[in-house]
Amino acid sequence: MLTLLELLKDGRFHSGQALGAALGISRSAVWKQLQQLEADLGLSIHKVRGRGYQLAAPLTLLSPADICEQSKDCPWTVLAFDSVDSTNAEALRAVERDVPAPFLVLAERQTAGRGRRGRKWASPFAENVYYSLVLRIDGGMRQLEGLSLVVGLAVMQTLREFGIADAGLKWPNDVLVGRKKIAGILLELVGDPADVCHVVLGVGINVNMQKTDEVDQQWTSVRLESGKQVDRNQLVARLSMMLKAYLERHQAQGFSSIQEEWEQNHLWQGSAVSLIAGVNKIDGVVMGIDQQGALRLKVDGVEKVYSGGELSLRLRDDS
Ligand code: ATP
Repeated sequence: MLTLLELLKDGRFHSGQALGAALGISRSAVWKQLQQLEADLGLSIHKVRGRGYQLAAPLTLLSPADICEQSKDCPWTVLAFDSVDSTNAEALRAVERDVPAPFLVLAERQTAGRGRRGRKWASPFAENVYYSLVLRIDGGMRQLEGLSLVVGLAVMQTLREFGIADAGLKWPNDVLVGRKKIAGILLELVGDPADVCHVVLGVGINVNMQKTDEVDQQWTSVRLESGKQVDRNQLVARLSMMLKAYLERHQAQGFSSIQEEWEQNHLWQGSAVSLIAGVNKIDGVVMGIDQQGALRLKVDGVEKVYSGGELSLRLRDDS
């Protein structure tokens, strides 16, 4: 089916006969595959008598070769899929199959893209970036300190390169434009962090998505902010180079070397917030983060420090 999409992706008209001949199938088989493309992938295809079939908009599909060409000396192997449940899940399976890290898993869509605590990440076909980088960590708990914040910073800087000057961070792991979420980050770990473990750095970035019914909070995309269609291969290449530079700095100098830069880009620095931990809610004012990436909050005039994967921040004037 995706071979048919390869033929159509230029956004031009193709006759049923030409498509059938190229694929070695009948015109009615072409028709069936076109209907399947529309139903399965949510694509819209124009059908015009006498001219043939045309995608409503041209598509650029993910291409590991293109990504490699656009990133300086291909920092890691790229595995690109048409459809997976979640790129993080696929990455974890690859670790179990002993695929040597570092490697990167990408997909055109996720059928069960995930956020924290089992929440869903909307992942339509060929519109956004679903990116999971796997690193092997050898007995270095320090290498995990603040890691998800480092990834956030690399994503934010990449988005700025693509013209999203207002992109900023929300502790611990979101990238926002104003109050709208443009990217999310989910780190998952397998193995023993005190010995050998693998960490999956999962990143979802809204790139060309212009509408969705699947997101229940304010969101935006690079396309909506910049008005321009973005080449996802170029964005992935830039993100990989940015991430590589930040990861090297983090590994060499520790998170403390990145703490200040992170705080400077924290959109909620100094804001009155509620920290949600399960059923508990703590009201405070954001002071910043500490040298491990934990949140520093002033609560009843006293500075307190919070960390852990179960915590969510909300602005107090929102709640
Ligand atoms: P937290 O403040 O705890 O990070 P969150 O609601 O932002 O809370 P995440 O786990 O980071 O939670 O992300 C999942 C949430 O993000 C979903 O519940 C949904 O509201 C929103 N979401 C899902 N898909 C997208 C998307 N493609 N773009 C923006 N937001 C999305």
